[in-house]
Formats: sequence, C-alpha cells, structure tokens
Amino acid sequence: MSRNEQFFERAQRSIPGGVNSPVRAFRSVGGTPRFIARAQGPHFWDADGKRYIDYIGSWGPMIVGHTHPDVVAAMQAAIANGISFGAPTEAEVEMAETLLALAPSMQQVRLVSSGTEAAMSAIRLARGAAGDGKGRRRIVKFEGCYHGHADSLLVKAGSGALTFGHPSSAGVPAEITQHTIVLDYNDAQQLEDAFKRHGDDIAGVIVEPVAGNMNLVRAAPEFLRSMRALCTRHGALLIFDEVMSGFRVALGGAQALYGIDPDLTVLGKVIGGGMPVAAFGGKRAVMKHLAPLGPVYQAGTLSGNPVAVACGLATLRLIQQPGFYERLGAQTAKLVQGLADAARAAGVPFCADAVGGMFGLYFAATVPTCYAQVMATDKARFNAFFHAMLDRGVYLAPSAFEAGFVSAAHDDAVIDATVAAAYAAFRGLRNSGGGAGTNQP
Ligand SMILES: *Cc1c(COP(=O)(O)O)cnc(C)c1O
Repeated sequence: MSRNEQFFERAQRSIPGGVNSPVRAFRSVGGTPRFIARAQGPHFWDADGKRYIDYIGSWGPMIVGHTHPDVVAAMQAAIANGISFGAPTEAEVEMAETLLALAPSMQQVRLVSSGTEAAMSAIRLARGAAGDGKGRRRIVKFEGCYHGHADSLLVKAGSGALTFGHPSSAGVPAEITQHTIVLDYNDAQQLEDAFKRHGDDIAGVIVEPVAGNMNLVRAAPEFLRSMRALCTRHGALLIFDEVMSGFRVALGGAQALYGIDPDLTVLGKVIGGGMPVAAFGGKRAVMKHLAPLGPVYQAGTLSGNPVAVACGLATLRLIQQPGFYERLGAQTAKLVQGLADAARAAGVPFCADAVGGMFGLYFAATVPTCYAQVMATDKARFNAFFHAMLDRGVYLAPSAFEAGFVSAAHDDAVIDATVAAAYAAFRGLRNSGGGAGTNQP
C-alpha cells in the first residue's frame, strides 16, 4: 500500500471523507487523493515522494509559485513580532490601501478570513444598505457561480426561470433560500425579467464576473453591462465576487478587464497568497452601514491576522512588478494552445480557454457559456485524461467542473513538459476509445 493510500485510510477514520474540503477527496475522478508533503515553485511532492506540476495552486492563491523567498521572509519577520493580537496593526492599513489602489471601485474595505465569510458579509451588507438603508430581502445569483457555503447562497435553480431557488445542501431551510433568485449565467433577458417582477425588493445581484467554479466560463461583456445598468436603475447593489478572478485574470481583477464599476467587491484567494485572508469592500456610502459605524453586524477574531496579512502583502507586491500579468497570461495561453494542439493531433474532441492566469479545459467541441453547457461536456473522458496526466506527474483539478491555475513559476520547461505529457495522455484516450475513464461516484 502506498503512503498516500495509508494516509487516506487513516484520514477517513478521523475526518469525514478523509478531507477538510470535499473536492480534495477525488470523488468525481475516483482514485486516492495525493497527500502533499511539500511544494516549491510550480511543483509539489506527495507522501510517496512523487513530484507533480501543480495546476491548482491551492485553488488560485499561489500566483507567484510555492514558497517564494520574498513571501516566506515576510511571514518569518511577521511571526517574530507576534502571531495574533486581536487589535489593529499598521500592516492591515497598508493591506487595505493596497487593495483600494488596485481595485479603485472600492473606497473602503474590510478584511476577513475566508471567501465564504466575505461573500456572506457582502450579502448581509447589501440587504441592510439597499433601499436607502431601509433594507431589501432578495438576492439574485447565477447558476454555476459559487460564492462560498453560506446558507442563502447554497441555492440551485427551481424548475423554470424566475422561480425561487431551492437549497442545494441539506440543512438549509427553504425559508432562507426563498429570497435568493437563481438565473442562467450570461442571460441578460432573464435578469431584466427578474427586475421587472421583483425590482423593488432586490437588494443585490452577486456574480462571478469571470466564472471559475463551473470550470472557466467568461461573462459576455454585454451581460455584465446590462447587469450594471439594471442594478443602477432599480437601486440594487452590484456585487462582483472576485474571490477567484481578483488579481488572477488581470491586476485589478475582472472589473478592470471589463471596465465595470461594481458597488461591492468580494476578494480572497490571491490576496492572502495562501494564508486565510479575504475581504469585501465598496463605495463609502455602502460601507458606512457596517458595524461599528452602522447597524449591519460583522466581526472576526482573526480578521487581518498579522502573519496572514504579511503573506498577502508580499504576494501583492510581487504581482505589481512590471510585466507580471503579461508573462502570466502568455504562459497560460501557451499551455492551453499546447493542450488543444495535442488533443487535435490525437483526434479527441476538446477545447480550452484562458483568461489571465486562469484556464478551462473542456471535452466538448466549443467553449461553454453557461452551467448547462458545462454539464454537457464529457466527464468520463475528462476523468480518464486527469488520471493519465496525474500518472505523468501533472496535477490538474480533480473535477471536470473546476478551473485551472498557472503561476509565475510555470516557466517554458514546465509548460513544455505538461504539453508533452498531454500528447501521450490524449493518444491513450483515443486508443482506449475515450469515454472509458475511471468514473466512480
Ligand atoms: C473560493 C471561492 C469562494 C469561497 O472562498 P473560501 O475561502 O473557500 O471560503 C467564494 N467565491 C468564489 C468566487 C470562490 O472562487
């Protein structure tokens, strides 16, 4: 039995499913999760000493690569001064100032510890601040977008557009999700209809402006423009959940890429550089409703933790170096082009897309634009490809419905090695007739 298998067996006795977040369990692709022992640059090593090129980057945060010396040094310096105070620090102020400078739609920002917490707090703030502070109940979200695991956001569409959402998790009462309207991504007409029916009670519209939790799906510019106009017209707050896209698709996030000015922005992942830092921020007129200034309550014992903030600040310094996003985007484009060429050479129906340092792989003829199209891609073929790549030392997201991430440490040699592995992996899919992958529930 390999050490990965031993650890997994042991883990399942003490931790539900053996993991502390479900996608890590490899349930969708089957097989044994790799227990990671250490990481460096674009690589990590599992418990059996096998090296992988890492394309999840802790699901986005590791944009400068693993254990970057500047980041490690900044954290060591911070630790030596104390691990947590529960009182304000100068570094938190610098962090806030840096975020406001990079995402100027925000005039004030509050730090929290996870993307879930940030999105949940942004929703509460929107509900409390909307309608000139009188409050509104309803929230609009889009199918396939993930905003963390707060009750009111664990919602799937009901049957037929414009019905109210149903809980997508046990333990969430329908009374809570009945205030969440779930619409199709990239469908501006549905949004317009929702505002026609409920406009005076919609507190906010929350969206991933580049979706990364149903694989990668770009928003059409017109979709986001209509959303902005409808929110303004009806007095609802536009909330960009940029936990994944922030400082990932561009310096300044998707709002910079699309030129859209949201009322509230939710951040996480990259801003912590791998430590638990997230944030939500927006216009001063909205943020003033937050405690201790206003009546919308929100708090956190470890919010703005000095070691975590040191990690985030060091990462944000590195990504502001000239040419960082040009290089990151070029390497990511080179990767997806190489993968698409390899698939074509093997005659496997496949396409890929990339935005900045984020990419999507689809076993489909065309790039999906909504959740239903992502669901229609060939999952069995993806699973076979995933395992063929994993065997060859390339660690992709263990699900056909997740995006991938490239870091600044993914140099030409690493991309070339990935593409070479893909040629062999795609050829294997063709030989096996495709569609016959490991596909456990
Ligand atoms: C990851 C993610 C979250 C949740 O963040 P956590 O830190 O995992 O709680 C929320 N929204 C989006 C868009 C995300 O990608």
